[in-house]
Amino acid sequence: MADVAVIGGGAAGAAAFGELLARFDGGTVHWIVGQHAPGRGVAYATSDDQHLLNVRAAAMGVFQEHAEDFLQHASRQLGQVKGTDFLPRRLFGDFIQAQVGARIDTARRAGRSFRIHPESAREIVSRGKDGYAVRVGADRWLEVGHVVLAVGALAQRPLRTVSTTALASGAYELDPWRLDRHPQAPRRVVVIGTGLTAVDTLLSAAAKWPHAELIAVSRHGLLPFNHAALPLAPYARQEALNQALLASDCPAAMFRLVRRALDDAGDTDWRSIIDGMRPINATLWQRLTHARRRQFLRHARWVWEAARHRMAPATGEAIYQLHEEGRLQVLAARVLDVDGSAPLQVTLRERATQLVSALEADLVIQATGLDTAVAYGAHDLLSQLLRDGLATADPLQLGVLAQPDGQLTHADGRVQHGLYAIGSLLRGNLWECTAMPEIRAAAHRLAVHLSQASSVARESASELP
Ligand SMILES: Cc1cc2nc3c(=O)[nH]c(=O)nc-3n(C[C@H](O)[C@H](O)[C@H](O)COP(=O)(O)OP(=O)(O)OC[C@H]3O[C@@H](n4cnc5c(N)ncnc54)[C@H](O)[C@@H]3O)c2cc1C
Repeated sequence: MADVAVIGGGAAGAAAFGELLARFDGGTVHWIVGQHAPGRGVAYATSDDQHLLNVRAAAMGVFQEHAEDFLQHASRQLGQVKGTDFLPRRLFGDFIQAQVGARIDTARRAGRSFRIHPESAREIVSRGKDGYAVRVGADRWLEVGHVVLAVGALAQRPLRTVSTTALASGAYELDPWRLDRHPQAPRRVVVIGTGLTAVDTLLSAAAKWPHAELIAVSRHGLLPFNHAALPLAPYARQEALNQALLASDCPAAMFRLVRRALDDAGDTDWRSIIDGMRPINATLWQRLTHARRRQFLRHARWVWEAARHRMAPATGEAIYQLHEEGRLQVLAARVLDVDGSAPLQVTLRERATQLVSALEADLVIQATGLDTAVAYGAHDLLSQLLRDGLATADPLQLGVLAQPDGQLTHADGRVQHGLYAIGSLLRGNLWECTAMPEIRAAAHRLAVHLSQASSVARESASELP
């Protein structure tokens, strides 16, 4: 028998655990969830109902074979709900917990073996052909055949431009989901970042401090684009475009192809063309050389992210209102320095003019998005895996190096058999792997693979004389 340990109590861990519960009978399935409520992770732990999903309800399942169940769950909770709606993320967190709960009940009735550990995984030691030993909490060891790392992105590191004085002042917030740590109303809040996390932060700050002036700053000052209110008609020539993109291995040429398609698309909405590329995005990424990936990250990522990861229409409308009311300014500038304390001094270089200016802020919130630079992060388990050679950092700091099936690459270049990752840690491998549609497909594939491998191992063992 070879047990499996899933490490990480977010949505990816929940998907992997639930998929394994449904089909893995080769041993015990351990779910090591850390200290937070299991299943919600960073994205679905919010209690602020202004924080909406950025994927339509119909596409937000947690398990691959029941991808539409969220819609039924939401309808039971809220009454009439349409598959095209963008619903509160909190509701999806409730749904994940209910779905996993149902799988646990079924597994119990079927006599499947599983355990949930409300602690963190601290260390993983290779036992060669016998799998791994995983240290849970202070000193409990689990002996397992396979490990699935579903630990999400890293906790934010302060930007290099933030002084220790500013960090110690209590007025620089590294966790955009912890505005509750600031009971006193600030007059001016600066949010660093203009992606989806920054948008949610701005909405929460606006509601919590109705008189605060809000400033969001990023190098290009580009907020995410809005989703269309209703699903869009597909682009008639998407298949031809995707074929042409797959024949290219250069981001600049790919952008030219997309640009041409946009120009020729007539009445087709540009968002439809971007969405139509989703099935091939991972393949396009995998075809790029290291230098070309770097080129994409440096020159095109900012606009790609804004176009690809869009806001729910209601979120876009709320941000637009703040702007119209004069409460929100969005700046295209580089943050050169954050220093001082109460108020902080934020020094900026404006993109258009290159002029340097300083502004005061009672609170600065860092909302710069996913950090997967494992070589620099302070994640104890990942640091240990890197130190011991069981994992290797992606050279562009997009997580860890891995095989196409998610097994990690050892420091010596070999496959680290039986040690898998899913979700954000695989961005270097897949680029597009952080949203639920990709996560649930990966969790399903992995559970099927591990179940089949375990059946084969048992059959071979039973044939031995
Ligand atoms: C603000 C936000 C909004 C999003 N909105 C959407 C959306 O609308 N639709 C969509 O499809 N996707 C959305 N996403 C993408 C999102 O990343 C995924 O949907 C999903 O939540 C990722 O889950 P995860 O489990 O990989 O990561 P996380 O949510 O980061 O969960 C990882 C968990 O692992 C735990 N952990 C870490 N180390 C250990 C350890 N050593 N031992 C035990 N536990 C550990 C962490 O504490 C954490 O709880 C959003 C992401 C964010 C950040």
